[in-house]
Amino acid sequence: KRSAANATTWPTFSNLKADMRPEALNPLFAEAQSIKGVGPRVVALLKKAFDLPPGISEPRVLDFLWHMPTGVIDRRSEPAVRDAVPGTIATLAVRVLKHRAPPRGNNKAPYRVSCEDETGSIDIVFFRAERSFVERQLPVGEIRFISGRIEAYGDKLQMVHPDYIVAQEDRQTLPMLEPVYPLTAGLSAKVLGKLSRQAIAQVPQVAEWLTPQLLEARKWPTFNEAMNRVHHPEDPTDVSTGGLAWQRLAYDELFAGQLALGLVRASLKSQTGRVVEGDGRIRKRITEALPFDLTGSQREAMAEIEEDLASESRMLRLLQGDVGSGKTVVALLTCAIANEIGAQAAIMAPTEVLARQHLETIAPLAKAAGLRIAVLTGREKGKARDAILAELAAGFIDILIGTHALFQPDVHYKDLAVAIIDEQHRFGVHQRLALQSKGRDGGSNVLAMTATPIPRTLLMTHYGDLDVSRLRDKPAGRKPVDTKAIPTERIEEVIQGLRRAVSAGAQIYWVCPLIESSMVSEMAAAEERQAHLAQVFGDQVGLLHGAMSPAAKDAMMAEFADDKIKILVSTTVIEVGVNVPNASIMVIEHAERFGLAQLHQLRGRVGRGSRQSYCMLLYKSPLSETAEARIEMMRETEDGFEISEKDLELRGGGEVLGARQSGMPEFRVADVPGFQDLLAAARNDAVMVLDLDPKLESERGKALRTLLYLFECDEAVRLFRAA
Ligand code: ADP
Ligand code: MG
Repeated sequence: KRSAANATTWPTFSNLKADMRPEALNPLFAEAQSIKGVGPRVVALLKKAFDLPPGISEPRVLDFLWHMPTGVIDRRSEPAVRDAVPGTIATLAVRVLKHRAPPRGNNKAPYRVSCEDETGSIDIVFFRAERSFVERQLPVGEIRFISGRIEAYGDKLQMVHPDYIVAQEDRQTLPMLEPVYPLTAGLSAKVLGKLSRQAIAQVPQVAEWLTPQLLEARKWPTFNEAMNRVHHPEDPTDVSTGGLAWQRLAYDELFAGQLALGLVRASLKSQTGRVVEGDGRIRKRITEALPFDLTGSQREAMAEIEEDLASESRMLRLLQGDVGSGKTVVALLTCAIANEIGAQAAIMAPTEVLARQHLETIAPLAKAAGLRIAVLTGREKGKARDAILAELAAGFIDILIGTHALFQPDVHYKDLAVAIIDEQHRFGVHQRLALQSKGRDGGSNVLAMTATPIPRTLLMTHYGDLDVSRLRDKPAGRKPVDTKAIPTERIEEVIQGLRRAVSAGAQIYWVCPLIESSMVSEMAAAEERQAHLAQVFGDQVGLLHGAMSPAAKDAMMAEFADDKIKILVSTTVIEVGVNVPNASIMVIEHAERFGLAQLHQLRGRVGRGSRQSYCMLLYKSPLSETAEARIEMMRETEDGFEISEKDLELRGGGEVLGARQSGMPEFRVADVPGFQDLLAAARNDAVMVLDLDPKLESERGKALRTLLYLFECDEAVRLFRAA
């Protein structure tokens, strides 16, 4: 998840100077490996478990801080053995009586250790245990504290693989309340907890940045204490999102975001850009070459963009439109304005597939308009790349389309006036900044695009008073998609239905379930489904997943687009952008695991051609209330803006699975009850602070700088440094 401020702003300055972070914070920004017990293996697991901010690929100490627990394991129940209740977690004090190792050579039999207290006996059970290990852990005759789940075995009690076994002198190392962290496949709560505690210990004592009045009124602990309590709970409310500790941290995150916004806004207002006002001749040629008329909202968006570019301040506009709403044409026409004054434009997409699709759409139109275009991605290498760079620097390329390759340090534009960033949320702040800073005089105009409709409330929070254009009406000729919810048990019926559809010429997307944090198991699920469908459809079934090389993905997409493959089984990699009009059926397995925004985006892949389209949401019962509401909403409407409002409402309860890919601006901490109220307070607070101390130079201002660093609002930090 991204922090408020990271999601927020496109900084508009090019000086990425070495930063001036207070030294006391350095240990937090050190790599995770600087923590004892973190080696390459753990780092790999952390990468999966953590939601690193965009642009950060290696986990750092700081990332432990924002990896918040989802609950606690409560080990505080310390019954006598006789009173231990099967099915509960308990901590027992027992004396070790006797070891009963399995017969040698029989690995499958359990290793049992009988233990007792004055009231009764319990067996500690190990599978595949090493004898010497168990003997060391549970020496006969000694007292041990064991903690774990109590089970009934016949009429006896047992505990299988206790979470903790400690001697009397180590009693206090046994955490009575143990935080549980999300997405820790391969990383136990115990290990992660240990690492987290070390990371928390690296947090320096920070000066208070909140007012005494606020702390008093809300009864909040200090930042240090709040951090400590969340990761090292002494009471279950310490890890509750409604608890005082968590609320304080949520406020801090929102406050940092609002401050960053305020700083960036102030700086933007003080900058002037260049006037880009073309004569319209290239736009005219493009629109004449289009096989359709622009929709009303496309026209409106263009009028707004033209006005932005013609003004002296830099354009910073967000173009929102559902998948298929026709953003690409708007992007191209925006580029054309730059081209009309002899300047260049760039279109950046998050993936190779998307970049190439843009190229395909744009190439014929550019040709008709006499524009020279080129593509630059990770695939262009060596001589080919050198040639493109030379042409670009010489101004022989009017529009450069590509991926992250567009802003590498050795890429020089002759005169970049417009930078277009497609699926902007998939890029980190620094990446957007890097592309934008390729413009003349250190900054180009920016049009950011997103297919994720962002609810109004969040727009304000994350994007401040950024200008927004919305493409609301769909291009003519789109037919509504018929959306059905079907329980998984009826999957064979669905497959029979697909058989008829395929013989009638239809093509089908089949999306496999989202699985928490594991690309490998996601892939396995997709492979399995492909094999299953291949039994019916033979070699007409293709497979697409995230672990494939870009070239292999492109090739597979091309086969599907050319109708050589009838059914494309995939993981969620198809989510963004790709256009295959003949595909008219979208099957989503385990639809209950997807977020609303994501379901909406997936459905947007169909309904693009002349055929009646269907979206089949296969779900596993029983549905949770939220999942049911989501599926119901999907059946009710196709309006992305309506769906996004509902999504926010549903996710307000903290349900976030699938949110990461949905493109919604995310918080790491602040997704809590009372969010709106905290946000309003944070906004007021920020306005007041910046009013009194716009450069954050007072005592409180200095403390606030630390806050900005902690939440990595670097771009805002850079502002007061430049000042
Ligand atoms: P997105 O907003 O998802 O990027 P695209 O720009 O890829 O959407 O447009 C989707 C499809 O709609 C393309 O095939 C495009 O040619 C077509 N399209 C765009 N604008 C219009 C329009 N005004 N009328 C009809 N079709 C249009
Ligand atoms: Mg698009």
